[in-house]
Amino acid sequence: MKRQVERTILHMDLDTFFVSVERKHDDRLRGIPVLVGGTGDRGVVAACSYETRPYGIHSGMPMKMARMLCPQATVIRGEAGIYSKESKTVSEIIKEAVPVFEKASIDEFYADLSGMEKFHNSYHLATELRERIKKESGLPISFGLSTSKVVSKVATGEAKPDNQKKIDAGTEKTFLAPMLVQKIPMMGDKTSKVLYDMGVKYVKTIQEMPVEMMTQILGKNGTLLWNRANGLDDSPIVPFHERKSISNERTFGKDTGDVQRMREMIRAMGENLAYQLRTGNKLTSCVSVKIRYSDFNTVSKQVKIAYTSADHILIPQIERLFDQLHNRRMMVRLVGVNFSDLVTGNYQINLFDDSEERLNLYMAMDYIRNRYGTDNRGNSILSWGTTLGIPNIASMGNPFNGDPPIIPAHRNA
Ligand SMILES: [Mg+2]
Repeated sequence: MKRQVERTILHMDLDTFFVSVERKHDDRLRGIPVLVGGTGDRGVVAACSYETRPYGIHSGMPMKMARMLCPQATVIRGEAGIYSKESKTVSEIIKEAVPVFEKASIDEFYADLSGMEKFHNSYHLATELRERIKKESGLPISFGLSTSKVVSKVATGEAKPDNQKKIDAGTEKTFLAPMLVQKIPMMGDKTSKVLYDMGVKYVKTIQEMPVEMMTQILGKNGTLLWNRANGLDDSPIVPFHERKSISNERTFGKDTGDVQRMREMIRAMGENLAYQLRTGNKLTSCVSVKIRYSDFNTVSKQVKIAYTSADHILIPQIERLFDQLHNRRMMVRLVGVNFSDLVTGNYQINLFDDSEERLNLYMAMDYIRNRYGTDNRGNSILSWGTTLGIPNIASMGNPFNGDPPIIPAHRNA
């Protein structure tokens, strides 16, 4: 990988975002251990304050275990709507300050400041932006500034909490060298274990290995990780656009009266759309179903729900709407499903009352869909859509900004 023109990439990440939002609304939560997540017996920790870290607590851990490790912690059941609103406020501030930015998750942003170098010192600009966000949103945020997304992200992690770090061009390798290999973004637990078992513990060792060796051990992923370990990453900023709704509809080749078939069809559409939401880091709070009869009479019905992107919540809603809506004996020409009132949010934040198993199941399902998702006609090998001929989105990556799916678990707080 050769870099033609040196870039200046800013990465910003709100510190312990859900916890900070809760603290903003309740001063009593400051300075004490706070856990946000599922308050039920099988809930998961979605965010934890720095005061809980000495107890070995991390996000994604079962709440039950976290409570045992730190019984004095205040536990709060999170609410996606509030976090999305705060996230939007911060997005607006960034939007005003930089020409193009990417929203990588509900609390994480990238911006390319390269073009602005002529006019501003980018470090000053980033510093001012951070101060402004803190002042106007009341939320602590950290940033990393370097020549690439990967190095900036790592720099943010090193800067935290509530601080900033600049990595000068040419010093990327030295900066990364002393770190443990799992600090490399997208380095999974399994991959780092493979490396550990071979005695590769620090980034420096990867830097000293020939790239071919990493490729031999880990395939394509090995090449990517070697590049990252060496601070080489030319992935672009993917501009953020707020999308208000997503939908899918299908006209039957021949009008049908087969209710079973129609139900299967809307189910498949719902599954595909929910997957699109999760891939794009989105949640919906409005589900609607549409039916067009043979006489072109079109009816639709919608329901407001709590923000979600989970199949097990959305599909029953879709089926219920369909059953309420489908009340004529007339043949049906078209069915459609629409999700609207979309907000940005990691999907685990609406799984507060779900178990770790279910969270892992969604992650595993989406991983498989993404990895093995399509057959040679571009249809999903897993979803209902295959047999029903519904166009599949698995091969399209993030339908909202063209980005590959973001690993749901946060590496930085
Ligand atoms: Mg964060």
